[in-house]
Amino acid sequence: MEDIFSVSVIKLNDIVRHMLVEMTRGLKEDNHSLKMLPSHVIKRPTGNETGSYLALDLGGSNFRVCEVILEGNGSTRIQQRKYTVSAELKSGTREQLFDFFADCVVRFLKENTRDPDRPRKMGFTFSFPVWQTSIKQGSLIHWNKGFSVPSVQGGDVVQMLQDALDRKKVNVTVTALVNDTTGTLISHAYSQPNTSIAVILGTGTNAAYVEKAENIFKYKQEIPTGEMIINTEWGSFDEEFAVLPRTKYDRRLDRTTLNPGRMPFEKMISGMYLGEIVRLVLLDLIRTGEIFSGQERSLKLDVPYAFETATMSRIERDHSIDLNDTKSVLQDLLDIPHTTLYDRIIVRSVCELVGKRSARLSAAGIAAVATKINCLNGCVVAIDGSLFELYPHYSNRMRDALGEILGISAENIILEQARDGSGQGAALIAALAAE
Ligand code: ADP
Ligand code: MG
Repeated sequence: MEDIFSVSVIKLNDIVRHMLVEMTRGLKEDNHSLKMLPSHVIKRPTGNETGSYLALDLGGSNFRVCEVILEGNGSTRIQQRKYTVSAELKSGTREQLFDFFADCVVRFLKENTRDPDRPRKMGFTFSFPVWQTSIKQGSLIHWNKGFSVPSVQGGDVVQMLQDALDRKKVNVTVTALVNDTTGTLISHAYSQPNTSIAVILGTGTNAAYVEKAENIFKYKQEIPTGEMIINTEWGSFDEEFAVLPRTKYDRRLDRTTLNPGRMPFEKMISGMYLGEIVRLVLLDLIRTGEIFSGQERSLKLDVPYAFETATMSRIERDHSIDLNDTKSVLQDLLDIPHTTLYDRIIVRSVCELVGKRSARLSAAGIAAVATKINCLNGCVVAIDGSLFELYPHYSNRMRDALGEILGISAENIILEQARDGSGQGAALIAALAAE
């Protein structure tokens, strides 16, 4: 397992090189594995923007409505409510999905604001690959993260949302369509102006960065500010399967997903998939009698996605000598009552291998982007998502890998936890768009 899951520094460098080639290709023309989508966001905030804006954030696991008050001087106040998008909605009709969003806005305004009927501007964070034709217009390229509502594909998602809001007679105008990665960059830049890269490490993974206008060959309009944020959509990196060190478990996982053959980088990195990779490895180890020997099979472990990435976090955080918490996890969550210390050590090692590989691959991505924009002598990377925030050792493992790839320059790349990029960022972009 160690052999197949470890990513050597040679491999990391191969990945960086290949990603650099793909980034340049993606900026020249469409239809490459890195989409390099122009975000139409052509400036970063100064920190002095003020006003009250709404934001809708459709991430992957959660759907949020926020009211963001920009106070100037880089400070904000936010109130927000989270709502769950049910499995039925994720594969239902487009009207059902967007009416649900509009209903949540109605509820939010009623329950949280004094004057629900006054006109408001809203930024819509839609964290799926979108072909954006203007700051407030764009169509979905394809779904991921478990969503599958076919009739949304191809149409303008802002119009769909605006229509739903109008149907419910809500006095809200959608003025900006935002990818959560772009939002994270803008949001972090409100208080930290030298932010030039943003990365998401949550249900999915993605990165955005500030590119010089002259390098965006495929974008024909003039860019007065000389820069634009590019949404790399790096989750689909290496769909040609040239460089990523995929194992038989990655292939097995891929075959059972809604989008086989797509998003290979995301499937090796993001929170949605890590637990499932571990589960597939454990099933193999049980089958060959290497762990949990002599016991009945755990029916729970037979269920796809039953082993969550958050469980890996908990196991990796268990530093007790006899791995007692791991014992409880296996017993309570997975119905495996009798385990030996040896079993638990193996389970923990598998989590470590899969978790570490994720951190090292995302570090390779960051190294590639930082090299592309020549910021090896100093830049801030804003990172948002529960995986980065909650998975133990994740950021240290990233830093180790960055050091292996970039040597001493790695110290100039500052990884910062970004909070609430997709809400605050969307509000800021709505504000910048209104200027
Ligand atoms: P989203 O990506 O939908 O905006 P998050 O950034 O919160 O939301 O990421 C959610 C993902 O993070 C889940 O898919 C889950 O796999 C992962 N996650 C949640 N809790 C933890 C945890 N304690 N440790 C590691 N990963 C976690
Ligand atoms: Mg998010």
